[in-house]
Amino acid sequence: MEHEETYLLMMDALDGELAEAQHSELEAHLRACPSCLQEWQALLAVHTLLQQTPALSPAVDFAQRTLARLPNRRVRIWTLTAIYALLLLGGILPLALAVWLVFILRPVLSEPTILSSISQSIGQALQVMGTIVWALLAGLGEMVVQQPAIVGWLLVLLGIISIWGGVSRQLIFQTSPRQTS
Ligand SMILES: [Zn+2]
Repeated sequence: MEHEETYLLMMDALDGELAEAQHSELEAHLRACPSCLQEWQALLAVHTLLQQTPALSPAVDFAQRTLARLPNRRVRIWTLTAIYALLLLGGILPLALAVWLVFILRPVLSEPTILSSISQSIGQALQVMGTIVWALLAGLGEMVVQQPAIVGWLLVLLGIISIWGGVSRQLIFQTSPRQTS
């Protein structure tokens, strides 16, 4: 069986649309072909992570359809790796930020006068941030009109932060990706 054909079977398997005969065909190829197995495991890992959040399933579909259109295996593996790294980063960043904030705020919280001046400047900073966010959203609106594909990727990005809990769970409990049937 051709590698490209195998990839289509993988897509169907992830969608749960693989017939019994095709499934054993896919498994036979994966046993014999390390590079396809590597790709399958990467696909499974990303798929499982994304599916931790049901709201993300449109994004999962979009990502898979986009990947299927990519010209060759090397590009696909790089894209998968990038998505995976992004997911991991999405999991680690909020945690690091929280730790950093606690570290910064701890001495401040015991000094009432400093606290009030800090809260004042935080208020000003929030106003500035609000302006920036509005400007970004306006720019984003234009971009989305010109590039509809960006909407799909935005869905993926928006989900990243919400699933970081799932990411760490996966890292701890999933020693090897299992095949879905
Ligand atoms: Zn192969």
